[in-house]
Amino acid sequence: MSPDSLADRLARVRERIANACTRAHRDPATVKLLAVTKVFGPEAILDAYALGLREFGENYVQEMERKASAVADLKDARFHLIGHLQSNKTKKAVQLFSSIDSIDSAKLANRLDSEGKPTDAMIEVKLSHEESKSGADPAGLPAIVAALRSSQHLKLTGLMTVPPWSEDAELSRPYFAHLRALAAEHGIAELSMGMSNDMEVAIEEGATWVRVGTALFGRRKKP
Ligand SMILES: *Cc1c(COP(=O)(O)O)cnc(C)c1O
Repeated sequence: MSPDSLADRLARVRERIANACTRAHRDPATVKLLAVTKVFGPEAILDAYALGLREFGENYVQEMERKASAVADLKDARFHLIGHLQSNKTKKAVQLFSSIDSIDSAKLANRLDSEGKPTDAMIEVKLSHEESKSGADPAGLPAIVAALRSSQHLKLTGLMTVPPWSEDAELSRPYFAHLRALAAEHGIAELSMGMSNDMEVAIEEGATWVRVGTALFGRRKKP
């Protein structure tokens, strides 16, 4: 087996999660791994599935649509949309994804609900001031929480955030702590935070989902 096989990378990621859990006095079973397969072909999903992974993150509805037939036989695989969702793609989104983790407005929540399909839902909160990032302003959170809790078909499970990228994972900590505080305020259980570079800090701050792409699948080609 080559030292850079997916199996080896997965083992290293699991070890990082386990070590962070030890430091944080947490049970590793409380941290779920979302394998982020954006940009890679469907074989990345098939390979990861063969190694036991069942939860996958994709950023684009159209990209998932292209991969869907190749992964249709993976019956217990669940796909999460973690990229911004345009309101004209809600029908396709609920067909392709078990969980929409990037809801950023009450309007989008209502539109997704009107598609009539039981779907898990997370709210993406933008805690930085970067122009390029999507996500709801924290001030808008109560309205989105209310929309999801009064919806017929959506189940609010968690909050997600993406802090500004930095070499220094410690710089993510205040963003993760802020998300945890917001979730506690609203009685929301799941926290999707932490990526390849900062998953340990996220776990120390209470992440229940880490979204990992590069550390599992290698560098993505620049689009
Ligand atoms: C790409 C992406 C990830 C994975 O990032 P890596 O640094 O490759 O682990 C996680 N979350 C979101 C929202 C992403 O877009």
